[in-house]
Amino acid sequence: MAILLKRKWITKEKIMTEKKYETEHLTISWKPEICQHAGKCVHGAPEVFEVGRRPWIMPENGSENLIKSVIDQCPSGALSYVEKGE
Ligand code: SF4
Repeated sequence: MAILLKRKWITKEKIMTEKKYETEHLTISWKPEICQHAGKCVHGAPEVFEVGRRPWIMPENGSENLIKSVIDQCPSGALSYVEKGE
C-alpha cells in the first residue's frame, strides 16, 4: 500500500518516523506520516493530545483506559499502543 506524503507517494515500508510515549502499562506509538489529522485524538482527550504543544502527546494527563479508547478510534492507524508484558 502506498500513501501520499508531501506530494510524493511512498510505501508503508519506507515510513521512518515513529515516536513513542510511555505510561506505566502502555507503550504508545505515533507515526506522523500516516496521520490524517482527523482530530479524533485531540477531541477525545484534549488534555493528552494537544496540537502545538511539545510534546503534543502527554499521556500522564489522562487515564490509560481513556488513552486506549481514543487510540482505538484513530482512523489512520497513526496512533497505536502495546500493553507492556504482552
Ligand atoms: S486520531 Fe489519528 S489520524 Fe486523527 S489526528 Fe489523531 S493521530 Fe492523526
